[in-house]
Amino acid sequence: MKQVKLTSNILNVNDMLAHKNRGLWASQNILVFNLMSSPGAGKTTLLERTVEKLAPRLKIGVIEGDLFTDQDACRIERHNIPVIQINTQGGCHLDARMVEQVLPQLPVDNLDLLIIENVGNLVCPAEFDLGEDFKAVVLSTAEGHDKVTKYPLVFREARAVVLNKIDLLPYVDFNLEEFKADIARINPEAALFYLSARTGEGIDDWVNWLEEEVRAKGCQP
Ligand code: MG
Ligand code: ZN
Repeated sequence: MKQVKLTSNILNVNDMLAHKNRGLWASQNILVFNLMSSPGAGKTTLLERTVEKLAPRLKIGVIEGDLFTDQDACRIERHNIPVIQINTQGGCHLDARMVEQVLPQLPVDNLDLLIIENVGNLVCPAEFDLGEDFKAVVLSTAEGHDKVTKYPLVFREARAVVLNKIDLLPYVDFNLEEFKADIARINPEAALFYLSARTGEGIDDWVNWLEEEVRAKGCQP
């Protein structure tokens, strides 16, 4: 009983801070999304390709959530946009407080789009609202199509589902038809993208959709 209560209190506090973050971002007209996947699915590579395409047209900032290192933040920083690193020191997800605490370090009054790369984990990141406009989840073909039914929450919560590493489809046992059917059943409203962040195939559909979302929030241009 006690443990259940503790969990719900933590989530209540998180929701309050998420609400605060959401209010700040709304007042600044920034579109914010929370990017999730398991480790190695290609979140950071997708971010790099996204920033390359959109940075000439939009002012982008990134918050990088990682267990211990700043490797991913360094990769993004090379693209000359503001990046803030959050090390969770082993914590398996970001929460709204961690994001709130680093926000003063970002030029939020001068951004159109803020991307938050969550810790690589398909389980609890989906349970913590950060105040974002939407969640996006990346699955790679190398992980197998069964992950959608094994981790349904993250796929149900996402407005965008990205299937990455489609260049590997001939070499892996990934059943594309089952994947499509599972997404259609679990989250029929999801925007679905098939791409290879490594080769660039399919990136434009994703980037154009994202730019439309920024525009729809009334930010740009
Ligand atoms: Mg990463
Ligand atoms: Zn966690």
